Amino acid sequence: AANPPASADLPGFEAQPGRVRVLLPLPLGEAYDYLLPPETAVAPGAIVEVPLGSRRVAGAVWETDPDTAKVPAHKLKRILRVCDAPPLPLPVRQFVDWVARYYLAEPGAVLKMSLPVPAALEPPAPRLAYRRAMAPETLPVRLTAARRRVLDVLADGLARPAGELASEAAVSSAVVRGLADAGALEQVPVYPHAPGTLPEALPEGPPLSDSQRQAADALVAKVQADAFAVTLLDGVTGSGKTEVYFQAVKAALAQGRQVLVLLPEIALSAQWLERFERRFGVEPAQWHSDLTQAQRRDTWRAVTRGEARVVVGARSALFLPYPALGLIVVDEEHEPAFKQEDGVPYHARDMAVVRARLGGIACVLTSATPSLESIENVRAGRYDSVHLPERHAGAALPAVEPIDMRTDRPTPIEGHGTSYIAPGLRDALAETLAAGEQAMLFLNRRGYAPLVLCRSCGHRLQCPYCTAWLVEHRLIHRLQCHHCGFAMKAPDTCPECEAADSLAACGPGVERLTEEVRALFPDARTALMASDTVTGPDSAARFVESVRRGEVDLLIGTQIVAKGHHFPGLTLVGVVDADLGLAGGDLRAGERTYQLLHQVAGRAGRAEKPGRVLLQTYGPEHPVLEALVSGDRDAFLAVEAENRKLAEMPPFTRLVALIVSSPEEDQADSLARALARTAPVREGVEVLGPAPAPLAVLRGRHRRRLLLKTRRDLAPQPLLRAWLAQIEVPNKARLYVDVDPYGF
Ligand code: ADP
Ligand code: ZN
Repeated sequence: AANPPASADLPGFEAQPGRVRVLLPLPLGEAYDYLLPPETAVAPGAIVEVPLGSRRVAGAVWETDPDTAKVPAHKLKRILRVCDAPPLPLPVRQFVDWVARYYLAEPGAVLKMSLPVPAALEPPAPRLAYRRAMAPETLPVRLTAARRRVLDVLADGLARPAGELASEAAVSSAVVRGLADAGALEQVPVYPHAPGTLPEALPEGPPLSDSQRQAADALVAKVQADAFAVTLLDGVTGSGKTEVYFQAVKAALAQGRQVLVLLPEIALSAQWLERFERRFGVEPAQWHSDLTQAQRRDTWRAVTRGEARVVVGARSALFLPYPALGLIVVDEEHEPAFKQEDGVPYHARDMAVVRARLGGIACVLTSATPSLESIENVRAGRYDSVHLPERHAGAALPAVEPIDMRTDRPTPIEGHGTSYIAPGLRDALAETLAAGEQAMLFLNRRGYAPLVLCRSCGHRLQCPYCTAWLVEHRLIHRLQCHHCGFAMKAPDTCPECEAADSLAACGPGVERLTEEVRALFPDARTALMASDTVTGPDSAARFVESVRRGEVDLLIGTQIVAKGHHFPGLTLVGVVDADLGLAGGDLRAGERTYQLLHQVAGRAGRAEKPGRVLLQTYGPEHPVLEALVSGDRDAFLAVEAENRKLAEMPPFTRLVALIVSSPEEDQADSLARALARTAPVREGVEVLGPAPAPLAVLRGRHRRRLLLKTRRDLAPQPLLRAWLAQIEVPNKARLYVDVDPYGF
């Protein structure tokens, strides 16, 4: 049933005068009742256009037989039309309701993610294309060289859109128009090709290793069982997890189902797309925030009609109304990018599991460093797991060594200033470059320096709107706030004491590191890869390609270089500040740092030559660093889990963060106190705070935080609902509820 029938074809929906309840993709608090046009029947989930004030809005029929007590019939407005789109399938509607309940969000705000394109409801307009109408000899017009070129392009008898035709023939559009007016060209409509469609036969793919085969068979069995199941595909970097889950993708496609693959950052997915294309011979449909309105519309239509068989996307792709979904893959399931922080805050990995359960289908989570949540779910028997313990084709895992910065101190370079590269790392870089191999330096800090300070008065340049330092970006001569986007020209004098030439950059960012590397190795070809220099999938692809072709000797980058790239010539990875993520009160600081550094390390030695990883640290005895060096991931995770259990923290308890904010500090404080006063009191429930939120001022708003902690077997949502019902949020204040929060 790839293509559900239109509502009119469904049996059992006789003409029923009456009302339906329609959920609109707006944060309205509830679904509204409307009257059906006479002689009309609609199926649950049907997409209808209704009047709302003076607007026309498309929403989905949420109940076909609502209770009538709410609003008397004579007050109801009539549905304007039933749209030409398949009704939202039951699991999609259940999913919208489920997500709204779990995250205490407006169902309409969640529906907006399923119905993101009102224009999608109109059939796509055909584009006009031209083909040859008559032979050149019979033309009643003079044949110029330009006109001849157009006719030559069209000699194959195929039609081309006007713009493409003009550029292919290297003529102006006036030339094409002139030929059309003269009757030499015939106009035909062409419909856009649906994204994500598949070829007739699915290619076989490469032969798998024994352990890959076993893992793939287990995943395929789950897909074919046609029932809800979650499997953690746990395999070291380079073990060939992608090839393994491609087998599951193929199995789902062979059953006529749709497949969704969620990637943490679609901007970094160029390599994945290329790989998919090489494997299956077609491009999947893509869904992410960089699409144009037309692409969104075409993709949404193709998905809802079951024509798009494979969709790869960022977290929002989870909400698309798939009529025949058979498999969800969450690649790099541990990535924090799956947590959406604004709008409706949700975790796409967790919701992928919920969507799979509601659809009764298989879900695969992949990672080389699974989240503690998923590990615990496997341990408790809620998820299955399959393992790939070795790198593909016998490539060895890299050797990881610490560099103790307390004893192996960086020495200033002549005429350059502070150095951030210890002699041990410098020597290793020199050796690698001398051997003609590639090296990478990792520093998870954008810009030139994280802090700018006046040497004369000690003033530190801070964002005027946030509790955050301004970060110097020397390449663009600006200071930037990484939290609100505030930017200013780097000043010449101190804004506080007006001393000239007194502002000094403190600490390293990747730009500064690049400077040092260029001073150390003037002959090496260096490249900086950070979100400032890599702006989208295309530039990422070009970048990765040039590294792979060996056009770069030394790559410097932020976490953007850590993600999934395969650089066969890379043998040395230097982590410039391995302690960076470990400071601060983040619950997941250790876990996150381990995951990130492990992933960075995994870039080294992926082909024949073995890799080496050096970690610069001031605390080599930290458990995270010890685990990275020993490679004993499971021992580290066991200790980490034990600590969380002792501290009564997730995944062994549930957390909800309540963040109140206001432009007025007093208002934020009094609202936070009101919340604390009315907090639920019962066994297994604890409320912590209020305290200043991690960014005490953000975008000019003062922020306070409370944490609700409950036992794992207690659902916090009913408690929250009862609690928040007593709270009046004043006009300028906001209350943000973040269930299963991240980042502290
Ligand atoms: P992971 O996702 O586990 O890090 P990948 O799936 O990226 O690993 O595989 C690592 C490399 O090994 C890739 O270049 C991939 O093309 C190659 N590879 C994996 N499995 C096979 C296979 N069965 N046959 C040939 N090449 C493979
Ligand atoms: Zn700011």
